[in-house]
Amino acid sequence: MSTHEGKNLPRPTPETQAYWDAAKDHRLLIQQCSDCDTHQFYPRPHCTQCGGMNMDWVEANGSATLVSYSVINRPVSKAYADDDSAILALVRLVEGPQMMTNIVDCGLADLAIGDALTVVFEDWTDEISMPKFKRTR
Ligand SMILES: [Zn+2]
Repeated sequence: MSTHEGKNLPRPTPETQAYWDAAKDHRLLIQQCSDCDTHQFYPRPHCTQCGGMNMDWVEANGSATLVSYSVINRPVSKAYADDDSAILALVRLVEGPQMMTNIVDCGLADLAIGDALTVVFEDWTDEISMPKFKRTR
């Protein structure tokens, strides 16, 4: 079990507060445009598809596919030295949007582009839980 003390914490903004509140409850929220139904991530005040300003929050299924990944061999600071995962990944949610995240509970030898993933949450503080992904069996 690694500690998260000293890590760079996200700072929720009015645009992202709902996302972080849900993450604290281990729910992954993304936005959906009520004008054209497009899902998007990261949170923005407007739809990147149609330019509409009517964005709703919806709970993502939590399933994703591995699009790409890279390995971080040297931690950016001592706070990250105990992390059991140093796999930085781009994943595509089943709803469509892509997320930059980490893959956890998986060795590099087992990982392949296209792998099916599911979201898990790491509780970093009482206020911040980080969505990460692990392979599904
Ligand atoms: Zn739209």
